[in-house]
Amino acid sequence: MRQLKILLLGGTGEASALAGLLANDPRFAPMLSLAGRTKTPVLPAIPCRIGGFGGAAGLAQYLRDQAIESLVVATHPFAAQIRRNAVDAARATGTPLLLIERPAWERQAGDRWTEVPDMEQAAAALGPAPRRVLLTIGRKDLAPFVAAPWHDYVIRSVDAPPPEFLPPHARIITARGPFTLEDDRRLLRDARIEWIVTKNSGGAATHAKLAAARELRLPVIMVARPPWPDVSGLQAARVSDAEGALAWLAACHDAASSAKRGV
Ligand code: NAP
Repeated sequence: MRQLKILLLGGTGEASALAGLLANDPRFAPMLSLAGRTKTPVLPAIPCRIGGFGGAAGLAQYLRDQAIESLVVATHPFAAQIRRNAVDAARATGTPLLLIERPAWERQAGDRWTEVPDMEQAAAALGPAPRRVLLTIGRKDLAPFVAAPWHDYVIRSVDAPPPEFLPPHARIITARGPFTLEDDRRLLRDARIEWIVTKNSGGAATHAKLAAARELRLPVIMVARPPWPDVSGLQAARVSDAEGALAWLAACHDAASSAKRGV
């Protein structure tokens, strides 16, 4: 059977779910790509490569060298650089592009959210009075909080941030979701958290902190997602989950098979 060659840019639950759906499906020859940021990544049941490509030009070269027929971007909504690179490489090579965009979290009744466009404004929104703050923003974006050292921070991330990137009063919790409502209620109470700062990552795995904050009437500073790059003029589609991606890839496979048979 003809196999569709797919490059899947991952690092998310959606990418892992899609890898699971593609594994052992004879219609597809997928390769998962991970940046190599986490020390113990969850490896999939499909072939996997780890590490950067060398910018958009390097990614375009990989697409050509490997004769990739579909580029699937299932990276985190806040991983903006790799998305730009993917769009540029798809444009340079004419590779069809599929974007998996998990829905953003929406404010619900009882939520006390302040929405801000970036991490600098998130740190500023904490204000001048010392607070006990839970940061669930990953390891890379701590600089604005280092510049606001009068707060006490609890930082939850998959791997510990390097000590030189930490604010002075910081306690680190290394943990990988999914988290339950009970876990997060206990964390907020035990650590006497007064404010939460989070990215609007969306998805179920890290949503419980928002429900716990609602219960405890805690304010949340919600950092908005960076916008998608412009895909106009590209053969591009957008879906919200792995099942939608599988349906799109199946249609690509069928179209490529029909073209080969000349039907
Ligand atoms: P980024 O700033 O958008 O990307 C920086 C560079 O990392 C890219 O230019 C690329 O290097 C390399 N890269 C990123 N994703 C890659 C992938 N899937 N395969 C190969 N190379 C990749 O990304 P980031 O924010 O550092 O995130 C890195 C990874 O962690 C992503 O795969 C993302 O899905 C995952 N992640 C990110 C977040 C977040 O909040 N940012 C949260 C959870 C998971 P080259 O230019 O050399 O190709």
